[in-house]
Amino acid sequence: SIFVGASFGGIAEIYSQLQKAVGATERVFELLGEESEQIKSVPQSDIPKIKGEVAFEHVAFSYPSRQEIQVLRDVNFSADFGQKIALVGPSGVGKSTIASLLLRFYDIEGGHIQIDGKDISQYDLETLRGNMSIVPQDVILFGGTIRENIAYGKPEATEQEIETAARRANAYDFVNGFPEKFDTIVGERGIKLSGGQRQRIAIARALLKNPAILILDEATSSLDSESEKLVQEALEVLMEGRTSIIIAHRLSTIRNADKILVLDKGEIIEQGTHSELMLHENGLYRSLSTLQFS
Ligand code: ADP
Ligand code: MG
Repeated sequence: SIFVGASFGGIAEIYSQLQKAVGATERVFELLGEESEQIKSVPQSDIPKIKGEVAFEHVAFSYPSRQEIQVLRDVNFSADFGQKIALVGPSGVGKSTIASLLLRFYDIEGGHIQIDGKDISQYDLETLRGNMSIVPQDVILFGGTIRENIAYGKPEATEQEIETAARRANAYDFVNGFPEKFDTIVGERGIKLSGGQRQRIAIARALLKNPAILILDEATSSLDSESEKLVQEALEVLMEGRTSIIIAHRLSTIRNADKILVLDKGEIIEQGTHSELMLHENGLYRSLSTLQFS
């Protein structure tokens, strides 16, 4: 992989997120090419810390390559520091797009996105992305050792820190079960990890990076129930003490969110807690919820 040895906090996860978002490797390289050359290797401790308040105000967006489709028209929401915000809605409605915009993969057409009250265009990309982690549905690890993959977001991490992160992410036992332990090579030419194992590596990486803002994009939607339990537990640990934006397919995983946002036709059409939204007789959340639990 071209990213082996690079130590910018998060290129690997941006890569995997982008690959998922655009679905074509060439396009990922095209998008990352210029930028990844400019981003120097920066120890995590040198990146200015943000608090983690997020606000979308009248955000409008369409993809540059598909101008005819207005993905987001007028998106408004805010997340206070430490809150768990869930984003739900039909497939293709723009949930992952909202995550991409927060990471500034694209610039918006209208409105504002602010972090800690400051427009995201005013942050360096390395500060912005250095303060965020994503756990996507399908985690792609880069070719290298498990240790390198975990330490990716914090190149200066000690052995002890890497092990602790792996334990808290429910990854330590399976890693320790390999003959080469943390030196096990993963990726195309290495050992094949299951989806849930790769996710726990990504969670360990995020724990080490300790970002103010965490994005979970359908992180548990493709796992079997045994794996889901281990990943869900690790995610609960990971969400503590930071602002989390949880894109959820299974509504059972977001019942205790501080705020649930329901996205439809380019706008947030409902927001509230689970019990508040269940009171809307003809609400979309209530009907999605009823469908899933009946
Ligand atoms: P969700 O995550 O809610 O399923 P997405 O944010 O992935 O939805 O997609 C929203 C819309 O934008 C869809 O119509 C999708 O086809 C389109 N889309 C997503 N990514 C791209 C892209 N990179 N280029 C063009 N259109 C895209
Ligand atoms: Mg999506």
